[in-house]
Amino acid sequence: MSNHLMCTYAPLPVAFVRGEGAWLWDENGKRYLDAISGLGVCALGHAHPALARVISEQASTLIHTGNLFRIPWQETLADRLAAITGMERVFFGNSGAEAIECALKITRLMGHQKGIDNPGVVVMDHSFHGRTMAALSATGNRKVQAGFEPLVSGFVRAPFNDFEAIETIAQRNHDITAVLLEPIQGEAGIRVPEPGFLAKLRALCNEQGWLLIVDEIQSGLCRTGRWYAHQHEEIRPDILTTAKALANGLPIGACVARGPAADALSPGSHGSTFGGNPLVSRAACTVLDIMEADQLPERAAAAGDRMMTAFHQRLGSHGGVRDIRGKGLMIGIELEVEANALKNRAMERGVLLNITQNRVIRLLPPLIIDDEQVDEISDVVCTLVEEFG
Ligand SMILES: *Cc1c(COP(=O)(O)O)cnc(C)c1O
Repeated sequence: MSNHLMCTYAPLPVAFVRGEGAWLWDENGKRYLDAISGLGVCALGHAHPALARVISEQASTLIHTGNLFRIPWQETLADRLAAITGMERVFFGNSGAEAIECALKITRLMGHQKGIDNPGVVVMDHSFHGRTMAALSATGNRKVQAGFEPLVSGFVRAPFNDFEAIETIAQRNHDITAVLLEPIQGEAGIRVPEPGFLAKLRALCNEQGWLLIVDEIQSGLCRTGRWYAHQHEEIRPDILTTAKALANGLPIGACVARGPAADALSPGSHGSTFGGNPLVSRAACTVLDIMEADQLPERAAAAGDRMMTAFHQRLGSHGGVRDIRGKGLMIGIELEVEANALKNRAMERGVLLNITQNRVIRLLPPLIIDDEQVDEISDVVCTLVEEFG
């Protein structure tokens, strides 16, 4: 282990040397079934041959020119994202947090245009929006913020899935310009709001002249059985952030907007050196092509149903299980007790999973998993939970 890395992570003592589809191999040749995909990033699995070919071809043609010049692959990618989301314009950064920063900067600009000196954004308890200063200030988790004060101001907090609380804020606070939320909260332990919550928020935003911003960084790109999770509700946001799976592991994040929010930024008001370079943009175009050709929204929905059915059958009445929830292949199993030890036990049995909020088993497998792999993951997870007590 190197002593020259800052201590931001506590990695498990295993390193992988190669992958193929949903499989990973470690240094000793042991094989693992990946049920976390690098936190929802490798939706197409590892070493996807068509994607690898395109990345290699583009890397040996042109990686970067900077946004001083037109980048045709970035334009193609923006067109594709606009078509998939029904939105109008895209800004490309290199991470989820940067997509959030862009969205928040748009809310500030638009607030000032309306004559509001201190424009505010309603954010949700237990949310996660990233680790940059504004993103961590928007985040509803003290652990992410502690020690980094002063936080960026202008965030008003509400409980997730509590429409009345947000209505009350609307009545009392006249400086609000936007609501920012995850359609399904990821880091919070896969929290799914009740049906209709987003649609009610959409109506409130229309009434108040607020922007509705959906953070789809984890829930987007086919993971929940739709291209984007908010599409389960037949609504359109004003701004959408997307990242993780967009280039299947190359760094990219995008802020997608429509209406006035799409035209808020102007030359010189925002930018990114690497953002949307030819390599990552072309990779992302290929990811979207593959997702469409392989019908991954439908695949994620079917595989997710299969996994969920298995969990309900075997764990539904288990005393140690508090809740089983999720949509598509974004699944959480909340246990009654702290369960961090399950990570290592799963690894011993050749399955990689994640624990969030100390007692929620979080599963974000690659969307290309087949039924046999779904069954193997379900079986190992159920057995581990049963043995855990
Ligand atoms: C991962 C995540 C982020 C932050 O993305 P980074 O690429 O790590 O900056 C923001 N919002 C949500 C919902 C996420 O899951």
